[in-house]
Amino acid sequence: MKEARFIWMDGQLVPWQDATIHVMSHVVHYGSSVFEGTRCYRTPKGSFCFRLSEHVKRLFFSAKIYRMDIPYSRREIIEATNRLIRENGLEECYIRHLVYRGYAELGLNPITCPLRVAIATYEWPALLGEEGQKTGIDACVSSWQRLAHDTMPLLSKAGGHYLNSQLIKLEAVTNGYAEGIALTTSGFVAEGSGENVFIVKDGGLITPPSAAGILPGITRHSVIILAKERGLKVSRQMIPREGLYIADEAFFSGTAAEITPIRSVDRIVVGDGKPGPVTRMLQEVFNGIITGRDKDTHGWMEPV
Ligand code: PMP
Repeated sequence: MKEARFIWMDGQLVPWQDATIHVMSHVVHYGSSVFEGTRCYRTPKGSFCFRLSEHVKRLFFSAKIYRMDIPYSRREIIEATNRLIRENGLEECYIRHLVYRGYAELGLNPITCPLRVAIATYEWPALLGEEGQKTGIDACVSSWQRLAHDTMPLLSKAGGHYLNSQLIKLEAVTNGYAEGIALTTSGFVAEGSGENVFIVKDGGLITPPSAAGILPGITRHSVIILAKERGLKVSRQMIPREGLYIADEAFFSGTAAEITPIRSVDRIVVGDGKPGPVTRMLQEVFNGIITGRDKDTHGWMEPV
């Protein structure tokens, strides 16, 4: 990880190396945290965070679900984030917001543990690699299923939920794939370990609905809007596993992965094994916005 100068911890800017917590903190043992990942991009007009307000809104909803009362307003978190980016002298970075239960007791009832908040900003290139964004990546269907709705509140982006994501990712990488795709407990496509999935079929886009237990991504939402504006039909519907194999194109969307084409699933080539025209068009449109080349008609690029 490329360290930056400061981390914002509970209202203070702390040198990166000093931003530590006690090993007996509740979060370390039980995954009691909620978090966000956002990207800040450099453009000719300065640095802009992609949909930071949406990410901070989701952070507050994630916290609410786990009965965490964040002792700051959304505005304060946004201002703290922008200040931190400036103090760290970063023109382009990944932003990690973290709300977690700290040190007090280790009982499962976390209510006595102080709620703590941290923000880190640091340089982090494309998750699945720049090469992956150009040529596409090889994915597999995971033997681990996505969490079911009545086991964990899946609309909360909570630390503990990511044990499931780690199993999916570890299995995929161990078996020589770049990423794994989890199915729902009833066998339909849910999502990647940290990305949403889209397929292109007969010129239209299909992505699993919230009912598939996905985290409804902010990038997914942006892709749906951009695709519709360009006249593409977009449907949120259940996709059976084999729907991935016979898709014309497939891609992942996410803050870290941005738009990454999927060239094969379970070693079955998707389409002709190259990023297809719809995927490339959406990458181009998305890149136009985040690089500042094209007009941001949605107000998604929020100045630092
Ligand atoms: N699903 C999961 C499980 C994720 O962790 C992420 C990354 N936040 C996504 C989907 C994509 O969401 P977003 O586009 O908001 O980054």
